[in-house]
Amino acid sequence: MIKVGVVGSKGRMGQAAAAAVRQAPDMHLVAAIDLGVPPTAVAEAGADVVIDFTTPDAVMRTLRSCIGHGIHCVVGTTGFTEARLDQVRGWCAENPGVGVLIAPNFSIGAVLMMRLAAKAAPYFESVEIIEEHHPSKVDAPSGTATLTAQLVSQAREGMDPVPDATTQEVPGARGAVIGGIHVHSIRARGLVAHQEVIFGGPGETLRIRHDSLDRESFMPGVLLGVREVGNHPGLAVGLSNYLDLSSHDEVVAPVEPR
Ligand code: NAP
Repeated sequence: MIKVGVVGSKGRMGQAAAAAVRQAPDMHLVAAIDLGVPPTAVAEAGADVVIDFTTPDAVMRTLRSCIGHGIHCVVGTTGFTEARLDQVRGWCAENPGVGVLIAPNFSIGAVLMMRLAAKAAPYFESVEIIEEHHPSKVDAPSGTATLTAQLVSQAREGMDPVPDATTQEVPGARGAVIGGIHVHSIRARGLVAHQEVIFGGPGETLRIRHDSLDRESFMPGVLLGVREVGNHPGLAVGLSNYLDLSSHDEVVAPVEPR
């Protein structure tokens, strides 16, 4: 049995994660923690793994405490800066053997969307990202959009910048720019989590779209993270680190027309 603590257990994602842990036959929920309860409560409850779905500030307290107590961490909270990731790497270095997974998106479909976008990137001169979320989300752009932009940017290395003749602009009209890629954030009631990566080349566009229609979509990835995190010491960013996606390479390899 894996003993699991959930931090942010009254939030939208935390509630779903706690329910998923309760239903998992190989897991036992030992702590469900919220605002006002110190993260040390996770260690006091004897957890092997902590799941955190809170806020960008709160998650750093969870990580510092849990890594220091030798508890593996599965983090869905978004809004990490490079400086904060470096801080987490430092805590991991001081506590070798502890695994930390920070996954901006636990949906397997979203992970594949990012992978396919990175594969397509070298073949198109234009690319932009539109992400759409519920209006209670506090960070923009989403962690998924940021990671997608970084992956696409790496895959475009050595290519010309994306063409854009804009010289007059209402501030923000062209969105945020991450690694040279424009990212646009929509917030509207009724949405859950959605993203489209739009590629353009002469005479054609390719749109890679993913929709999370229910928070349930994240739970298989969260449980996979809980089961695997102990086998991956140090910090891993992105669920793809835990997935064997090598067979998909054949699927997306360029095919000659017959
Ligand atoms: P939410 O409903 O606002 O839940 C956040 C919860 O964290 C709330 O219950 C909040 O309590 C609690 N909290 C805040 N500070 C805390 C602290 N210091 N200690 C313990 N608990 C604290 O938000 P959500 O929609 O569940 O999203 C949570 C995070 O997950 C966000 O960063 C979001 O972007 C991310 N997310 C990730 C994925 C993924 O697949 N990785 C998917 C969806 C969302 P109060 O309400 O009392 O403040």
